[in-house]
Amino acid sequence: MVESPYNRAMQDLIRQLLAELGEDPTREGLVNTPRRVEKALRFLTGGYDANVDQVLNGALFTVDYSEMVIVKDIDFYSLCEHHLLPFFGKCHVAYIPTTKVIGLSKIPRLVDVFSRRLQVQERLTNQIADTIRDAVNPMGVAVVMEATHLCMSMRGVEKQNSFCVTSAMLGIFRDNARTRMEFLELLKLRAAVLAGRDVPTANFACMFED
Ligand SMILES: [Zn+2]
Repeated sequence: MVESPYNRAMQDLIRQLLAELGEDPTREGLVNTPRRVEKALRFLTGGYDANVDQVLNGALFTVDYSEMVIVKDIDFYSLCEHHLLPFFGKCHVAYIPTTKVIGLSKIPRLVDVFSRRLQVQERLTNQIADTIRDAVNPMGVAVVMEATHLCMSMRGVEKQNSFCVTSAMLGIFRDNARTRMEFLELLKLRAAVLAGRDVPTANFACMFED
């Protein structure tokens, strides 16, 4: 079996982990697992290496437009930092420009950059909102994320909360109920996140449960 020497130390750790779990890391099905797991983990945490300025570079445009810009249903996949298990779902982003907009294709890319790190859903939501605010200085930014947490659903913990909604409302989305409602109405999530900020948090639950 040819083994990539990409990161021997990490592969050794994964082999050790397999052994500690009671497995035989030398059996046929597992012999290449350390290399695969390393490659997968590198990809899933690739957001640490990404440079947000570079992602946005050349994608900011000056406009004379001040209507709400919405990008809905962006798929995202992240890893819960408490259990290293996936949480994944949909992200919805809105902002109201003042003078600048972001190229639409860059918003899913931004979501990827922050998702591909060890995260909690609340921080992920805030990081996306803060980055857009800092990039285009809009009248406001709203980010809503809906996710399933495998650390909860696979372990049978708090099944009813394993689908979790978080939101970050900045500027006019925080200060103006009508603007916020307009956005939530478009998402058909009004009942779930009517309060804007006070939504159930899966991550705290997942921490309490260990
Ligand atoms: Zn967790």
